[in-house]
Amino acid sequence: QHRLRSALALVTGAGSGIGRAVSVRLAGEGATVAACDLDGAAAQETVRLLGGPGSKQGPPRGNHAAFQADVSEGSAARRLLEQVQACFSRPPSVVVSCAGITRDELLLHMSEDDWDKVIAVNLKGTFLVTQAAGQALVSSGCSGSIINISSIVGKVGNMGQTNYAASKAGVIGLTQTAARELGRHGIRCNSVLPGFIATPMTQKVPQKVMNKITGMIPMGHLGDPEDVADVVAFLASEDSGYITGASVEVTGMRPTW
Ligand code: NAD
Repeated sequence: QHRLRSALALVTGAGSGIGRAVSVRLAGEGATVAACDLDGAAAQETVRLLGGPGSKQGPPRGNHAAFQADVSEGSAARRLLEQVQACFSRPPSVVVSCAGITRDELLLHMSEDDWDKVIAVNLKGTFLVTQAAGQALVSSGCSGSIINISSIVGKVGNMGQTNYAASKAGVIGLTQTAARELGRHGIRCNSVLPGFIATPMTQKVPQKVMNKITGMIPMGHLGDPEDVADVVAFLASEDSGYITGASVEVTGMRPTW
């Protein structure tokens, strides 16, 4: 039950959707959670849900803490890892990059700014956090598990998401390469490819489109953030001790469009 009792888990994008569910799940497995989000108040709300410091609800179950950072900025990502290390006197042994955005537009109309912004947060942000976490773990001689949230869209594409699909395909390649480079340091790196999950991100999609998508999912319904969190918890734990460089689909079956 408490597979992550001694783990310190850094979760980015922890203020909403999948990142919040991952934070709750990892804390439930015994991990101490460093919850980071661009929206600092949302990260604090996640920590409150975990029963961390400042929580008035229920007994404190861990020494969780919230951090505000924009992962797409190199200096901010590096500072985040420094702050987490300073706060807990050790680097995070589990790092989950959930921070992500969409800016949908058909290829023929997509602005350069929409392309750049999505690549900056989803791909460069994941690179910066993976790099900073890898540096912190290697320099302190610690092993760890890095889990990057990609998307099935990175494999099969999706109308209106050239920027998003490219960023998520990039996350798979970056994670596989990090796994090759960091394996000898005892650091595993895996990506998780959710399908369509009910979160604020998919709530933005028009209902008509979502109905069509739901009709194409063999399981017949969207996934819950907890479905993704379950797989992240497995990859964070020693139950997956010989799994690295993998990209795990959590889709209710991959869409073929
Ligand atoms: P969400 O919008 O609910 O949460 C994303 C969080 O990331 C927000 O709290 C946001 O503030 C934060 N964030 C955005 N930019 C940031 C930045 N620059 N620095 C730090 N934090 C930042 O979305 P979600 O559905 O929970 O998505 C989480 C991850 O899962 C994303 O990477 C997304 O691409 C991926 N994903 C989601 C789905 C889905 O169907 N919801 C499917 C596949 C993959």
